[in-house]
Amino acid sequence: MKKMQKTKYAQAINDEILEKLSLKNRYGFMNANLSTLMSEKQMSILNKIQEFCMNYEKENNITHSAEEDIYDYIPAFGKEGYVCRVHKFDEIDMNFQDFGLTVELLRSLALSQFDPQFLMMCNATVLAINPIKHHHDNVPARLEALKDLVTGKAPGCIMITEPERGSDATHQLTTCDPQEDGSYVLNGDKIFNTNAPKAKWAVAYASEVQNNPGKLAQFLINTEWEGWNCERVYVPWGPKIHIGKEKLVNLKVPKEYVLGGTGKGREHLFEGLVPERIMIGIENVSEAWAAISYGLIYANARKQFNTPIMNFQGVSLLLSELWARTNSLTYGLMKFCESYDEKMENYGGELPGSVSRALVGSASQFKYMAATLTKDVCYEAANIMGGAGLGDNTLMHDLLNVSRIQEIVGGSRQIQLYIMSGQLGSIVKGL
Ligand SMILES: Cc1cc2nc3c(=O)[nH]c(=O)nc-3n(C[C@H](O)[C@H](O)[C@H](O)COP(=O)(O)OP(=O)(O)OC[C@H]3O[C@@H](n4cnc5c(N)ncnc54)[C@H](O)[C@@H]3O)c2cc1C
Repeated sequence: MKKMQKTKYAQAINDEILEKLSLKNRYGFMNANLSTLMSEKQMSILNKIQEFCMNYEKENNITHSAEEDIYDYIPAFGKEGYVCRVHKFDEIDMNFQDFGLTVELLRSLALSQFDPQFLMMCNATVLAINPIKHHHDNVPARLEALKDLVTGKAPGCIMITEPERGSDATHQLTTCDPQEDGSYVLNGDKIFNTNAPKAKWAVAYASEVQNNPGKLAQFLINTEWEGWNCERVYVPWGPKIHIGKEKLVNLKVPKEYVLGGTGKGREHLFEGLVPERIMIGIENVSEAWAAISYGLIYANARKQFNTPIMNFQGVSLLLSELWARTNSLTYGLMKFCESYDEKMENYGGELPGSVSRALVGSASQFKYMAATLTKDVCYEAANIMGGAGLGDNTLMHDLLNVSRIQEIVGGSRQIQLYIMSGQLGSIVKGL
C-alpha cells in the first residue's frame, strides 16, 4: 500500500488511515464545500487543475518527503499554465482562456493540497511576473523573461526587503546610479527574497538617493549577470523553499531591463501591493482548506475509546468552528476576486491609480484575516490529529510550518493594521 509520505523514519499512521488521507479524498471533501460557492465553470477549472496534480503526483511517484526538491515540479506545472494565471499573457502567445484573480484562487486551492511549499514558491514567482507584465512595453528582452517565468522554465523572485529596511520598504538603501547610455549601476544588499538562490530573473527596487522614496526605480535582473551575489537564508518553517540574501556589487542593468526609471519605482511598488496581498490571502485560505481536509478525514477514521474521535464534541465542534471561519472567508475572497477581475476587464487590463488605491484597505483586511486564519486553522487541525499531525507521514506538518510564516510575508500583521487605520482616517476626513 502506498504511503502518503515516504520517509526514512517509522510510519506513525496506519495504512488504512493513510489511504483515506489521499489527495483525491482531500480534494473530495473540499470540493463538496466549494460547489455551493462556485459556478459550474469555476468547478470545472478547479477539477482540471486537481486532475493534473493527482496525475503528476502518481506518475512521478511524488511522496513529498524531505529529500524531494519542489523546484523540480515547476516546469511541468508551468507548461500547463499552473504557475500563474493572473493574466491572459497573449503577448507571449500563451492566450489562456481562463485567467484572473479568481482563477488564481482556484489554482491555489488545488496546489495547496498538492504541496503547500510548492504553492508558496510559485506565488513568489508570480510577484516577479506581475511587474514585468505591466511594464514590458513589448521590449523583447522583457518578454523573454516573462515567458521563462510563466511557462515554468525558471523561477523568479521579487527583491524589496533589505537587511535594514523591512516594513519601511520605501526608504531603500540599495542605490542605482543612472549612466549616460540609459543603463543603471546597482549597489546594495537585499534579504529574505523567496526563490532568489534558484531564480533566473529577479525584479528589484533601488533608489538614486538613499532613503528617498521619490527617487526609487524598478529593475529586471538576470541573475547570471556580473555583480549578483546570493547566499541562501535558511528558514526552517519552509525548508524546501530557497530564500536569498543578495549583495549587488556594481551590477549593471542595461536600459532595456529598466522597468521604471528614477521616480517611477514607488508607483510601481504600490501598484503591485493589492494583487500581492490578495494572493497571500488566497494562499492562506487554501492552506486552511488543506488542513481542515486532513483534520476531518482523520477525525472520522481515528478511533479512541472504541469510537471515531469525531464523535467527541471537543473534536467535532472545534472542526465546525474552523470550517465556518474558512468557508466564510473563502466567500469573501471569492467576491473580492470576481469584482477585481470585472474591474480589470472594464478598464482594459490596467486599473487606474485611484481605483487601485481604493482597494488597498480591502487587500490589507483580507491579508490580515487570512494570515490569522491559516495560523489558527493549521495549528488546530494538526492538534486534532494528535501525534500524527506533527509527524512526517502527511503534509500536515508542512501546512503547520508554512502557516507560521504568513503573518510576516507581504507586510507584517501590524503593518496591515497600520495601513487599515490610515485608510479609516482618510474615509472620515472625506465625510
Ligand atoms: C519566509 C519569508 C519570505 C519572504 N519573501 C520575501 C520576498 O520574496 N521578497 C521580499 O522583498 N521580501 C520578502 N520577505 C520579507 C518580508 O516582507 C519582511 O520580513 C517583512 O516585511 C518584515 O520586515 P522585517 O523582517 O525587516 O521586520 P521589521 O520591519 O524589522 O519588523 C519587526 C517587527 O516590528 C513591527 N513593526 C515595524 N514597523 C512597525 C510599525 N510602524 N507599527 C507597528 N509595528 C511595526 C513589525 O510588525 C514586526 O513585528 C520574506 C520574509 C520571510 C520571513
